[in-house]
Amino acid sequence: MSDGATLSLTTPLGSVPGFAPRLAQKLSKLGLTNVGRLLGHIPFRHEHEAAESGLGELAEGVVGAARGTIERVRRNGFGRKSRVEAVLMSGDERLDLVFFNQAWMANKLEAGATVRVQGTPKQRGPGLQMANPRVEVLREDDTEALDERLRPVYPVTEGVDSRDVERAIESLLRPALRWAHGGSDPYGMIDDTMPESVRTETQMPSLADAYRWAHRPEDTQQAELARERLVFEELLLLQLGVQLRRAAREHGPKAHVLRIDDAVRERISERLPFTLTGAQQRVVDELLGDLGRDRPAHRLVQGDVGSGKTAVALCAMLAGVATGTQAALMAPTTILAEQHFASISRTLEGSGVRIALLTGATPQADRDAILARLAGGEMDLLIGTHALFSETVRFASLSLAVIDEQHRFGVHQRARLGADRAGRSPHLLVMTATPIPRTVALSIFGDLDVSTIDELPPGRTPIKTRVVGTEQRDEVYGWLADRLGKGEQAYIVAPTIDSDDEASVEALAERLCEGQLRDARVGVVHGRLPRDRRVEVMDAFRAHELDAIIATTVIEVGVDVPNASLILIESAERFGLAQLHQLRGRVGRGERASVCVLIGSPATEDARERLDAIGSTTDGFRLAEKDLEIRGMGDVMGAAQSGRGSLAVADPIRDLDLFAMARRVAVKWIDAAPALGRPEDAVARRRVEKRHGEGLDLAPSG
Ligand code: ADP
Ligand code: MG
Repeated sequence: MSDGATLSLTTPLGSVPGFAPRLAQKLSKLGLTNVGRLLGHIPFRHEHEAAESGLGELAEGVVGAARGTIERVRRNGFGRKSRVEAVLMSGDERLDLVFFNQAWMANKLEAGATVRVQGTPKQRGPGLQMANPRVEVLREDDTEALDERLRPVYPVTEGVDSRDVERAIESLLRPALRWAHGGSDPYGMIDDTMPESVRTETQMPSLADAYRWAHRPEDTQQAELARERLVFEELLLLQLGVQLRRAAREHGPKAHVLRIDDAVRERISERLPFTLTGAQQRVVDELLGDLGRDRPAHRLVQGDVGSGKTAVALCAMLAGVATGTQAALMAPTTILAEQHFASISRTLEGSGVRIALLTGATPQADRDAILARLAGGEMDLLIGTHALFSETVRFASLSLAVIDEQHRFGVHQRARLGADRAGRSPHLLVMTATPIPRTVALSIFGDLDVSTIDELPPGRTPIKTRVVGTEQRDEVYGWLADRLGKGEQAYIVAPTIDSDDEASVEALAERLCEGQLRDARVGVVHGRLPRDRRVEVMDAFRAHELDAIIATTVIEVGVDVPNASLILIESAERFGLAQLHQLRGRVGRGERASVCVLIGSPATEDARERLDAIGSTTDGFRLAEKDLEIRGMGDVMGAAQSGRGSLAVADPIRDLDLFAMARRVAVKWIDAAPALGRPEDAVARRRVEKRHGEGLDLAPSG
């Protein structure tokens, strides 16, 4: 085997001296084509392996391992009842093996083969027997008896087993890490991401040690330290990326300074149809603090459904308008943009604030006119969907961009807002009703300041939630018809528009309008309706000219009709937890006690857990944590982490401290080196760019 002098992480396995070509071929199926990739293939767990003893030294009831030669193999029964028996001999010592439901063992165990078995023997007649032992067929040259150890278990694929990966890594680990060399190059090929000073502060092992311990731990403590270091590596790279972006913002174009005096503040609050809650007031203060500085703000406002985020955003936007600049509000759906436009227009009636709506549905001529007025500074407030931040939209002096319901946008699709004509970057305010568990907030939004509206406006009555099976559907609609007859209003939500599905919007509308809801005034809303029609239906519902609307999730976010106090969700098991919570938030906005009925037949464990969770609490924060638990971190972050060993993947609950530490380290590091430009930062810089450069929209290094 090579001494490592000529090896590097990019050396193809096929060119490593002494590396079996067949093994290299096999490993390529796992994408493990070079030395670096192989070493980066982290086991997902470790198995305890007992020290090998002689067959005769095995003791009843004690886990043990021993090797011997297969003497006889016999197979009895078929399929689920199958049973394979074998006799293992070593000299004249004997151990009986029996395998239940492992018919393939009959093929694996050939008479004459040398194998190592591990298990707990039991007394059977005169001798010992192991049932379903772990079996490893040994190669002829494999003569070394194993000490007690932790054996790595690797992610594998068809035709490659964990033992192949183990063998390959074993042969490369030593040269790669230059264990024996020490001296001037203590880490071998694996450069540490952290400069020595940073690493010492974290008290983490070196990356080289972490790899060595992940692949070949001497004890469980080493395995755990390795896991922590590798998880930390992931988190650190992400946090460095996020902090780099923050630094770039701080050193980039300045923002408009929006300072307003008390008289203007007074005028703004008088415009609102209600008094702000204490929490809203506090968040408005935080925002005004941001806006008064020349650094572009980057703030996340989280507040549960119905906590009154719109009013908070409006106050901030009006501060911008009062200072003679422009503000924009972006909503995730056309319906929501239309609703914001309608309600804000109402609030600002007679104020002289010039306001426009821009969505994908805006006719070209109107669009051109709006764009001209925006660029000319004759428009104060623009409300719309993402159409609002397309290339062609140029603001004269955009001082504040508000993005509503951020959770509907991908992590990496945050609006790309360049500087305006005045050469200034807008302040950015992101709002979400999906409370983000602290860990996720730290990792994804690590560069955002966070404000929380943790209070609901007064006069809300708690929502009652019922989860029922489909067999109760008739009963539920009977009850609903009765309530509608008494002047209440309802949303009925279905997962699809017009599939064959009996719970689609179209099917429901047809059935209900002829059946149980025939005396009610019912409208239909979904994304495929023309905009005019949709607005008409929503307006009619708001004006109580309709008793119920049957809709898809287009009403999920933001739709606000205080008199609606009932919501029925069909096929509830098909919605995500965050979605159900959002949908439920459409009610409970008025004086009347509200009810949410979830009709569903959960077929999976996850679905059942979701319905249980939504039925048991209305606390959005608790639900978000629960959601994270059910779905796991990778999913919530939308990261493609499949195929990678789970040892190196962060767990939001278990690894909370590592999340916090990664953030702390990254903040301090980037404060000292805002572009990671020092020589000692080179490795980190390269790795961050490789991992997150595109996703985080980092400027390429100069
Ligand atoms: P969300 O945070 O879900 O976006 P909205 O901004 O849509 O909530 O507000 C929900 C409802 O509460 C709206 O009808 C709004 O007019 C009302 N509202 C907001 N703030 C207050 C307040 N301080 N007092 C009374 N009603 C309020
Ligand atoms: Mg809202």
